[in-house]
Amino acid sequence: MKTITLGKAGDQPFKIKGIGVSKIHATVTIDDYGRWILADSNSTNGTFVRNEMSGELMRVGPQGMQISEMTFIVLGEDSSAGCCFYAKQLVNPGDYVDEHLYMRNKKLEFDMEEEKVAKNAKWVRIIIFAIMLVFTIGTIIWQILDDSATKMMFNFYRGISLLTMGATTFYDAQGKRAKIVKKRKLFSQCPNPECDRKLTNDEIENLKCGRCQK
Ligand SMILES: [Zn+2]
Repeated sequence: MKTITLGKAGDQPFKIKGIGVSKIHATVTIDDYGRWILADSNSTNGTFVRNEMSGELMRVGPQGMQISEMTFIVLGEDSSAGCCFYAKQLVNPGDYVDEHLYMRNKKLEFDMEEEKVAKNAKWVRIIIFAIMLVFTIGTIIWQILDDSATKMMFNFYRGISLLTMGATTFYDAQGKRAKIVKKRKLFSQCPNPECDRKLTNDEIENLKCGRCQK
């Protein structure tokens, strides 16, 4: 069994400078069965792990939580005030190959999601256009056949329903795109714990951080 203390006064194999990190912030215990347990040491700003599906951070309490080597740990905050790193850096510091490959796979996932949203949005536009065309032709025929006041009502309702439909669909595509952008950010942290930087899409693609060159 081995316990690593994390914090500004911890014995992790890298320096932690963030002002939001406590001297003794958390511990990682690797037991004789190879299980990793992360526990908060009553830190001021909390210990978190990233949910690898949503990217959202989940708080870890003093009672501890089982993690894996590729768990992304956040001490304090997900910013320069805190410290973020993959658990593997505690036993294999300085080797970022797995992390970079993982991030690139995530990026490909987001690229595909974005492509799907663009494709769906295109189909929605085509369908709306087709519906508008049918209604317009329908209205013209209606006017030719029956020149009465009811056609005004028809035009009114047609306009309202199409506007609502168009606006809702447009909003959905925008919302989905925004969610993907947010996820990209959550999965773009440089894997070097001493480098506080969000990698660009190009850097993720090239498996290298432009600042620390890791
Ligand atoms: Zn870096």
